[in-house]
This record gives sequence, C-alpha cells and structure tokens, in this order.
Amino acid sequence: MRIIIDGQRMPVNARASKDIILTLKSMSKMLNWGIFFDAANENIYINTKSSSAPILPPERQQPEDGVESTRLMGKTICIDPGHGGSDPGAEGSAGTREKDNTLSIGLLLRDRLEKNGCQVIMTHDSDKDVSYPDASADEELAARVDIANESGADIFVSIHNDSFTNNLTSGTSTYHYGDADSMRLANLVQKSLVMELLTKDRGARFASFYVIRYTDMPAILVEVGFISNPEEEVLLASVDGRYKSQKASFRLS
Ligand SMILES: [Zn+2]
Repeated sequence: MRIIIDGQRMPVNARASKDIILTLKSMSKMLNWGIFFDAANENIYINTKSSSAPILPPERQQPEDGVESTRLMGKTICIDPGHGGSDPGAEGSAGTREKDNTLSIGLLLRDRLEKNGCQVIMTHDSDKDVSYPDASADEELAARVDIANESGADIFVSIHNDSFTNNLTSGTSTYHYGDADSMRLANLVQKSLVMELLTKDRGARFASFYVIRYTDMPAILVEVGFISNPEEEVLLASVDGRYKSQKASFRLS
C-alpha cells in the first residue's frame, strides 16, 4: 500500500490492512487532516493542509465508463435493495430512511455490474413494495426470494442499513446462511466494504434471515452501516458513501 501525503509518496511499503487504515484515519481526525483511501489501487491520500479529502491526481481516478473487469461477463446477479414502498425500514435521527439508502446503492451497483457485462435482476428498481402495496413483511420477503430463485441468478445480494437503540453503535456486517460459497462471498464483501468505508468491522456472520435462507444461490445480506448512528447516517445518505458501498461490493462480485 502506498501512502501519499500532500501529493508526495512516502518511502514506506506497508501492507494494506484494516489496522493501518484505521490508525491513519484516527490520526487524521485528531490532526484535522483530510484522508482518502483508494482501495482499488491500495493508495492512501492524506491532505495535511485541510480536513477535506484530497483531490486525486487525474491518473489515479478510477475509470467510470467502459469495462473494468471481464470476470463478470455472462453472470447473473440478483440485487435486493432492503425495504421499499410501504416499508421504509429503519430511520435515522436526521430523517434518513433505510429504503432510500438501499435503493440508491442497489441502482449504482446495478449500473456498474451491467457496464461490465453482467445481467442484473433487481427485486425492485423503484420505491415500491415487491409483492403488492401494504403486503405483510412475510409476503414481501417471499416475493423477493421468488424473484431471485426464478431468475436463476449466480449470486444474491440484499442491501440493508443496521439500526440499534444505542446511537453510538456503529460498523458494517455481512450475513450468510452458513454454506461455504455464501461464507466466502460474505467474507470478501465484508472486507472490501470495511476497507472502502473505513467503518468498524463487525465481521461476516451467520444469520437466518429469510432472504438468505431460502434463496437457492450463494446469498448474502449486507448491513452497510448503522443508520441510528448520526455519523454513519450521514455516510449512508451521502453520494460519496453510497458510491463507496457500491464500489466495494462490485470489486468482489
Ligand atoms: Zn433493513
């Protein structure tokens, strides 16, 4: 991993790890420096002159158009933005709704995957119930699983925001239902998200959520961050945070 401070590359060759990234992040916070982690190229940019994130030199920016990877050609991925329609999901103290954050990340991820030759099935691509308006929670979840199973997708990804009564609780978790492929996928996506978002690593974990239990393909449910935590609420609602979430999920697909 390269560390670039005020445009100058430091003569250190650290291996990218969560520890070093979090250390640099807390140093930057303490010293009021701007920091940006370009996970794809494993570069850390630090701006000691101001707390805003450094502007990357043009050659370091990721290409936004065109094919970035051929590994996904011909694959089908089912994306399930959590909640939607009559179900807003969790709400943050600033009024941010989980369903808006998950749909936004889901659509960004769809566009990125499609550009790379992937067929994407969305359980819903606008703010609506998947089954029918005001359906029960069970019917709604079953409708999402049906779409995934009927599509014959290679991978299923459900996107959510976490929430807890204590607003200090924070971090990212990725859930699987225990089979080897789902566990592997969950571990990869979890690692990538934490590296990209610089959130607390709550780990890849087993859970018996309906949508990952009854889907036929490797399936994960991502809790990107805590909407109940004011700092993460801002991250989840921000263009930057949503973009990073999408980018991290894409890299591992
Ligand atoms: Zn949710």
